Amino acid sequence: VRGFEGKTVAVFGLARTGLAAARALLAGGAKVALWDDKPATREAAAAEGFQLTDLTAADWSQFDALMLSPGVPLTHPKPHWTVEKAKTAGVEILGDIELFARTVNAAPEHKRPKVVAITGTNGKSTTTALIGHICREAGRDTRVGGNIGLGVLSLDDMHGGAVYVLELSSYQLDLTTSLKADVAVILNISPDHLERHGTMENYVAAKRRILLNQGKGDTAVIGVDDACGQRICTEITAANCRTIVPISASKAMSRGIYALDGLLYDASGDRAAEVADLKRARSLPGRHNWQNAAAAFAAAKGLGIDPAVAARALMTFPGLAHRMETVALIGRVRFVNDSKATNADAARQALSSYPQVYWIAGGQPKTGGIDDLADLFPRVTKAYLVGEAEDAFASTLEGKAPAVKCGTIEAAARAAYADAAASGKDAIVLLSPACASFDQFADFEQRGEAFRAAAQAIAAGRTTEG
Ligand code: ADP
Repeated sequence: VRGFEGKTVAVFGLARTGLAAARALLAGGAKVALWDDKPATREAAAAEGFQLTDLTAADWSQFDALMLSPGVPLTHPKPHWTVEKAKTAGVEILGDIELFARTVNAAPEHKRPKVVAITGTNGKSTTTALIGHICREAGRDTRVGGNIGLGVLSLDDMHGGAVYVLELSSYQLDLTTSLKADVAVILNISPDHLERHGTMENYVAAKRRILLNQGKGDTAVIGVDDACGQRICTEITAANCRTIVPISASKAMSRGIYALDGLLYDASGDRAAEVADLKRARSLPGRHNWQNAAAAFAAAKGLGIDPAVAARALMTFPGLAHRMETVALIGRVRFVNDSKATNADAARQALSSYPQVYWIAGGQPKTGGIDDLADLFPRVTKAYLVGEAEDAFASTLEGKAPAVKCGTIEAAARAAYADAAASGKDAIVLLSPACASFDQFADFEQRGEAFRAAAQAIAAGRTTEG
């Protein structure tokens, strides 16, 4: 990290991101003071040789900045009143993306990499991975990170030829002021994480920060399938300082990139030209993925990648684990793992992808539960409910779709398979929980792995039975 030589930076929150920041700050000649609310996390940091400083009792006048881990909410002073104290003392508060951005900005021109930054409510990881895939296929030296995979401060040394493709959550954007994205993508915006941002207004404002500092030569790719995206697009078009590419997966447009019925069109020339048949792509099923593909194609063009190369790369994208991932095909029953669908909007995409599903849902519920999905309940042959949300989801579904409480993912997978197999038809067993995983699992990855294991156990049992 550059720009902090001789300064003292407090680092609060010592999971992966916090520790990577501490290492990078030390390597850049800064002094660091580390703390975490959780004793176990503190011990792990101490075991790595880091010195701890109790930031809850510290004198803030000695610090130049507070590096806040993405897990620590800004808007909730308690129990993290460390943030309040730092603010009161006038200490600058920043996140890992800000440290990265300052390092990029401090680099001499020939060493400055290209930065693609992606945000949105849903589809960030898929789009980030897809852009990374296109860049690699185009022969660019590509690093993918941020909220997906490695934190930005764990990525390799930067150089002028590299492309950094970064997924940014609104939490990370809240703490970022210096990032200048060569290509910025806002995919879509719908209510989520309001518990942390307080209001929809704050949430949209955080997302918009991805456009900060952009100027001539930079590209903004904006999803215009929702009202927030449309408004942002209109407003920045009026400001007129960068190239703006609207993208849509629901309508034809006179400019930008859009997908209709699985065909991708580029309308940046005089007239719209068909550039890819996304239905033939290896791993971009469903309209939501067409939105991701439109954004990725637009971003690739913004980077100057040959559109023909980008279009070809869309076809070979291998997809991400836990997002509409087929984990088993047993007889005529396909097990689809969409554990990443942690809210109703994401589950909507999954349910919309099939005419009929055996649906596994539940976990730690979000505000509103699955109330908004009522129009899709006719597609649910039967629902298999798990976790804390069981009772609430069962009453929402009552009289609209058959539902059974199963408790665990394993039990739900077995029950759903039994019914699906008995139907004698092609069938989908879909895990798309519309809930967080924290009631029963460490994270959505672990939940998805439990589903995969359950499907594999069913497959193994069936083989031994002959
Ligand atoms: P994120 O990183 O934003 O959470 P992911 O790419 O991991 O998004 O996808 C999360 C979930 O959202 C998946 O279950 C997927 O089915 C759904 N999804 C993917 N792309 C979109 C999109 N463009 N719009 C709405 N939902 C989407």
